[in-house]
Amino acid sequence: MTYRIAVLPGDGIGVEVVPQALRVLEKIGQKYGFSFEFTEALIGGAAIDATGHPLPAETLALCQNSDAVFLGAIGGPKWDSLPVHLRPEGAALLPLRKHLGLYANIRPCRTFSALIDASTLKREVIEGTELLVMRELTGGLYFGEKKRETMENGERAIDTLVYTTEEVERIVRLAFEAARKRRGEVCSVDKANVLESSRLWRETTNRIAADYPDVTLTHMYVDNCAMQLVRYPKQFDVIVTENMFGDILTDQASMLSGSLGMLPSASIGGQVALYEPAHGSAPDIAGQKKANPLATILSAAMMLEYSFNQVEAAREIEKAVDTVLNKGYRTGDIMEAEKTLVNTEEMTDRVLEEL
Ligand code: ATP
Ligand code: MG
Repeated sequence: MTYRIAVLPGDGIGVEVVPQALRVLEKIGQKYGFSFEFTEALIGGAAIDATGHPLPAETLALCQNSDAVFLGAIGGPKWDSLPVHLRPEGAALLPLRKHLGLYANIRPCRTFSALIDASTLKREVIEGTELLVMRELTGGLYFGEKKRETMENGERAIDTLVYTTEEVERIVRLAFEAARKRRGEVCSVDKANVLESSRLWRETTNRIAADYPDVTLTHMYVDNCAMQLVRYPKQFDVIVTENMFGDILTDQASMLSGSLGMLPSASIGGQVALYEPAHGSAPDIAGQKKANPLATILSAAMMLEYSFNQVEAAREIEKAVDTVLNKGYRTGDIMEAEKTLVNTEEMTDRVLEEL
């Protein structure tokens, strides 16, 4: 089996961490009897510099004709002052997601036992956390009608929160499917005591639940969920929620894992899914070989699991990452006293040794 991957390193540390994850994919493929055809393309600032546009038609076509898209990071100070329609993030990532029909963003969040003592949170609270947040990506406040009106004494601004039954249904199904492969629990997060869109969300979720009698569904108001994530995160398996609630809860949950440099993510829903580390291009450390490649390596594991159903191979990569951390290897972002500081490539070497 050969998987065709569109590889988009992008900007900043994206170009440093992506090649490291590809090394891991090559190695795990050899072990499990599959291979990859990696085709690189430009996106973000790098694409602006070369072609004048952050998402060249060629790049989009490549993505649409691949089995999966593997992305590094996009943007940086060099391109921040460009007009909005050319800015790397908005003009590349959002349209790419839209063209690929990606309506669900998944962020798994688990604690790495080797990193717990460095956390600002208590060991008893976070140890053993293993949750997944599924965030709706295409609807809600971000894409509703927006307006500004002049009033007698000032202005009025309006954002609209819209969801259709179909939009709720498709992401909730993905959440139930994901829960089936995990501990079989979905927590749907809304604000149904206040918002009409949340009432539709809740009704639809209850209806879909009938198709998944093997999965336990609970509902939680978003304010309570924010509190519970800090109080007792172990209670969650799969959290599914609308766009803005998910934006906030994923950032909150990310701290349970320690560093931004440890967090993978996937955007799924369409024919071709997209995998990328949760962090950005980190201009402050770009080009210094300091970047933590583990978020990107773990994103590669997600690709194996979600796009290719190579679950065993994915688990093995995750286990290798755990082992390397347990042996005391650290990049700067997760460094503590008495541990061994390694650079981007050396960290990957250690992971490859474990595979
Ligand atoms: P974006 O707007 O693209 O999300 P951002 O400004 O939110 O970017 P990041 O680029 O993710 O932020 O960086 C935030 C901080 O985390 C920076 O100090 C950066 O150096 C650090 N950081 C992010 N990713 C990594 C990594 N893989 N390894 C080490 N440090 C990282
Ligand atoms: Mg950011």
